[in-house]
Amino acid sequence: MADILSPVVPKNRRCTLERIEKFISHHYFTDVNIFGRLNRSSENIESILHYGPTDRISISTVIQDLSAFKPVKTGDSFGPTFSTHWFILSFEVLSSWKDEDVELEWDSGCEAMLWRDEVPFFSFTPQEDEGCRKSYRLSKEEKKQKRLQYVVEMACNRELGEGSPTMISPPDMNKKFSLNKVRINVKNKDLEAIFLDLQVLYDITKTLGENNQRGIEAMFVGNQIINTLVMQEWSDHAVKESRDLSKSYFSERNHKLQHHVHAMGHCHIDCAWLWPYSETRRKCARSWVSVLNIMKRYPDFTFVCSQAQQFAWVKSDYPQLFEEIKTQVKNGRFIPVGGTWVEMDGNLPSGESMMMQFFYGQKFFREEFGITCDEFWLPDTFGYSGNFPQIMKESGIDCFLTQKLSWNLVNKFPHHTFYWQGIDGSRQLTHFPPGESYGMSMKAEELMKTLNNHKDKGRSNSSIFLFGFGDGGGGPNDFMLERFERMKDTAGLPRVEMSTPKKFFEEVKTKSSNLCSWVGELFLELHNGSYTSQAMIKEQNRKCEVLLHDLQLLCTMAWCYSRYNSNKYNYPHEEINEIWKKFLLNQFHDVLPGTSIEMVTTDALKLYDEVIVTAAILMKKGKGSLGFGDSGGVCPVVINTLPWKRKEVVSVKGELAYVECQATGYQEITDCNYTSAVVALEMENGDLMLCNGLIECRFDKCGRMVSLCIMTSQNGVVCKQECVAKDKYANQFVIFDDVPLYWDAWDVMDYHLQTGKHVTELVEPLCLSGQSKLQVSCKFSLMVGKKSKITQTISLDVGSPLVKFKTEVSWNEDHKFLKVEFPWNIQTNRATYEIQYGHIERPNHQNTSWESAKFEVWAHKWADLSQHNLGVSILNDSKYGYSCFGNTMRLSLLRSPKSPDANADMGDHVFTYAVMPHKGTFQESEVIQQAYQLNYPMLVDYTSCRTLGYSFAKVSRKEIILESCMKSQMHSNAVLIRLYESYGSSVQDVTISFPNLNIEKVHRCNTLEDLKGEIKVEGNSFTVNFTPFQIKSFICTCYIITSLE
Ligand SMILES: [Zn+2]
Repeated sequence: MADILSPVVPKNRRCTLERIEKFISHHYFTDVNIFGRLNRSSENIESILHYGPTDRISISTVIQDLSAFKPVKTGDSFGPTFSTHWFILSFEVLSSWKDEDVELEWDSGCEAMLWRDEVPFFSFTPQEDEGCRKSYRLSKEEKKQKRLQYVVEMACNRELGEGSPTMISPPDMNKKFSLNKVRINVKNKDLEAIFLDLQVLYDITKTLGENNQRGIEAMFVGNQIINTLVMQEWSDHAVKESRDLSKSYFSERNHKLQHHVHAMGHCHIDCAWLWPYSETRRKCARSWVSVLNIMKRYPDFTFVCSQAQQFAWVKSDYPQLFEEIKTQVKNGRFIPVGGTWVEMDGNLPSGESMMMQFFYGQKFFREEFGITCDEFWLPDTFGYSGNFPQIMKESGIDCFLTQKLSWNLVNKFPHHTFYWQGIDGSRQLTHFPPGESYGMSMKAEELMKTLNNHKDKGRSNSSIFLFGFGDGGGGPNDFMLERFERMKDTAGLPRVEMSTPKKFFEEVKTKSSNLCSWVGELFLELHNGSYTSQAMIKEQNRKCEVLLHDLQLLCTMAWCYSRYNSNKYNYPHEEINEIWKKFLLNQFHDVLPGTSIEMVTTDALKLYDEVIVTAAILMKKGKGSLGFGDSGGVCPVVINTLPWKRKEVVSVKGELAYVECQATGYQEITDCNYTSAVVALEMENGDLMLCNGLIECRFDKCGRMVSLCIMTSQNGVVCKQECVAKDKYANQFVIFDDVPLYWDAWDVMDYHLQTGKHVTELVEPLCLSGQSKLQVSCKFSLMVGKKSKITQTISLDVGSPLVKFKTEVSWNEDHKFLKVEFPWNIQTNRATYEIQYGHIERPNHQNTSWESAKFEVWAHKWADLSQHNLGVSILNDSKYGYSCFGNTMRLSLLRSPKSPDANADMGDHVFTYAVMPHKGTFQESEVIQQAYQLNYPMLVDYTSCRTLGYSFAKVSRKEIILESCMKSQMHSNAVLIRLYESYGSSVQDVTISFPNLNIEKVHRCNTLEDLKGEIKVEGNSFTVNFTPFQIKSFICTCYIITSLE
């Protein structure tokens, strides 16, 4: 009949395409289109009882007193932001529902968990999928009941927080959320299936475009389905015919050589960001309860999930849910990935922190699931250290997934599947999902982007595709799975399969050829302000890294000693594990970078306090066991936690002393000799000159360094080599305008460099503030910006190659960036920066777009600018941002972004940086050792005068740094030590000795303490070789410490 009445065939593409669009629209024509018919009936739930607002309390606390619940109705509003409200829903089950699809729809515009009998079993999200809302489908068992009763735990926040007016603005703390819909829908299953068919056909038509045969066919099939339904007035026959039309289309298969997409459900949950940690614990439960629910209905569905910390939260707060997860892990469907405690920042944590991320992550996955992750998973961090490939290798990892480099502002990264080679030469097979997202929603458009955008075609024919709404958006939903069913193998689209990272990487390993390599760091050309934002968090991060190092070493020494004198000291494994985990949590990729809301800053600083307080108690016990402490005696000793002998000025009860201490040990304080006292001279022009025989420096009244000379003596004649560039000032503070394009706390843009103003407004001119033979110091104050003040104390110690700048800033600016600059008398085309267990070079010029994009970079304790016979390093105790152009190196000090934390960095800051001029290379001149010494000050304590000195561990070569020492967690009576080659050289025959320890056996091991072969022990030492930047860990089984002398 249709043929007779419609001689006209659709010819205008746009018209036909839009017809389909309107037919499935949730905005237009819903009175007549298919969207408006998806529910056969909808009925509001009338009995809603409410209790709240409450904090994030347990359901068992809430339901203890049901009389506290009061009736409310749809349309009522609840708040404020981040509060919790509880609802009891009850309704009669109708007999007519028996053979129907019946759904409970909850729309409060925020996240919510559904409970039954105190068990969480479903979650609601404010996130819609093309107008469709995730609703709870009643089970057969439930439909047999007479009445049903559920509890809803409503969290007054959405998946991306409550920033106002923009997503990243500080949250509106007074938001209210209203119960838009609380109802029972009887679904029209068949029409829902056709609706999804049309949605996919429409998506394919749009994606494949007007020149593609399959794309045009999809449009005609869609049009024909609409005609069929309309002409036959939505009859059962029309429904069947429509389904057959789409099935026929989707069942046209691909050629086996078509691109292979490995799809995996995923749900990226930030541990804290635009909401606090405590909300994330619930976000995880809500998302994963949903995932488990979908697994019951879609037997092929796989889900990948990272971050041991989040599993640990769910284990503690939702034990029943955790057991279900364990079952699905066993089934290979809920797949723990990544191997780290949290998805940490990829730039700022120390090498040892990164190792511990893997240690605690992999340990958790092994203990709970019997799994060791093979792949490192870090989709969303702001750059990737050049030593990651080795750190991964040491942690049982042999491939890597990320995608954040697709955010590069300047250069398009040229690969999606490649080998990433680190500074030591280690290589890791790496994949960036070419869809450039870790939260896709299974659309034809995303599949085609995955195919078309793939930069390594011809080398590899597979990609990973991660789908699911993150951050509390509920992960994957039924609609995504239904679209997958339709598209998984239909001609014209890539072949899609539910898969796992293991399957994908195995396929790449066996089927790829000619894969390219990328050498060095993966630098993100964006978010470069995150090296500086939230200075307090960064300072605490560095301080705690040092503290944990010292604590573990001293506790290990105490444990060894206790076995000698049987003083019953127990190594505090549990407590140390606890504080490591708190500390590692704060290295999450929005916390340490300083890109979270103020609530997170407060929580993070509190966690650091807890770490510091506990560490202080443990340290006191450990030191007490070694015979130190207030009760121990009156003789002062210095403790040196670094693995080389050092000589420094320390303060003992307010008095300065120049003391020496052995490697990783302690020594009674006795004054050391020195050849040249330190002096300060006032110059005629008012400048101050400081000199210690090694260096001579001069400062003007504004504290600017007008001269820095290295002094050497040849045949009794003193030579001076000037380091400050001619007619320039070093230690010059500069303030920049700092208004990025959008991501406030994250970004500093290259144009800020055009807005620098030198800070020269004096409050107090430079004057001598301390003068002894061991140390001279001078002090000055400057006004900076409109409301801020810098007070700086410059000091020079006897025998020290460093000029130190202790800096106090009262900082109250808006969108300003404070740096300090050093123009040196040096000609070179690169600078060197310390990274995790090593260093890298970066350009100090802007030749290419790749080089100019590195206008603000990160480093750890030092950065260096050198030519052949002269160099100057800038050392710091808590800063990470640097920039270097030509001969001028700048250290980034403080920013003042206003989003997402309106008060970020406001207030008082204290930090120290230092400059170290040198004539030889930075390696020969021991810049690396000096940077450690600045960060790991010697500790002063007291004993009962029984010992002159003691060294726990010694390393025969200065290139090799003993980075950590702790009692082994996995092997009894053993000490774990980790060393690395720090100069970038090959070093033969390095002897590691424990002068007072009897060593039974030594094994090489990895981060996870898996043994990797025995090393020959001779007496109390063993000898090994190192290649450039190589990290080596050893398990040393020891039986007794022989003495403490
Ligand atoms: Zn993230």
